[in-house]
This record gives sequence, structure tokens and C-alpha cells, in this order.
Amino acid sequence: MSFWDKIRAALNGFMQGRHGADELSMALLIGGLVLSIIGSLTRFPLLSLLSLALYIYAMFRMFSRNHEKRYAENQKYIALTHGSLRQFFVRLKNFRKYKYFKCPECHARLRLPRKVGEVTVTCGKCHHAFKQKA
Ligand SMILES: [Zn+2]
Repeated sequence: MSFWDKIRAALNGFMQGRHGADELSMALLIGGLVLSIIGSLTRFPLLSLLSLALYIYAMFRMFSRNHEKRYAENQKYIALTHGSLRQFFVRLKNFRKYKYFKCPECHARLRLPRKVGEVTVTCGKCHHAFKQKA
């Protein structure tokens, strides 16, 4: 067994039964890195402290043996980022191009290109037709 094989075996033994890296831990590490960079650029000590807290939390999650809890946290994080947070950034990005509004009947989120004037919109979800300015 070579030196590196021994290291690898020891590492595998150490990580046995632990949660390991998942999306939330990676996001925490990236977030910590970004905060520490901003912290060192702005010399704002609280940011470096906050980035350290994120690192420690990410480490704690990776080395945790409580799979169920860590898995649930990660699922929550994925639902949040792939759902509302993602939608929010998409809307923010397209804010100049589209007017966003909700269907008065079923509250489905709809959009119209800006400056089309008043048009009759038919909701794609419930087929309710209504006038909307954009
Ligand atoms: Zn509708």
C-alpha cells in the first residue's frame, strides 16, 4: 500500500457513516468564500467572522452522522433555491422586459412584454380571460 493509498483509506474510514458534501454545504462554503473576499476588500471584520461561521456550519454538516436531519435541510435548501429564490432572480432579470402580474381567478403568475398597451389575456392555467395593461 502506497503512502497516498493509506491517506485515502484513512480518509474513507473517517468519512464512513458521515453525511459528506451536499448542495447546501457547497453553497455554505461558496458563500463563506465570497464573504471572506468581500470582508478582506472592505476590511469589515464582521464579514470575516460570518464567513468563518459559514465554514464551521458547512464542516459540521459534512461530518455529521445525522443523515436524516442533514438530508431534510438540504431538501429545504433545494426547494428554496430552485423555487421561489430562482423565480425571484428570473423576474428581477426580466423586470425591464416583462410586466409580471397574477391571474385574478387562480393567482397563477403571468407576464406580458412591456409597452404592449391594454390587451386581453387568457390565463394558461384556468383559461380565464381579462384585460391587462402592460
Ligand atoms: Zn388563471
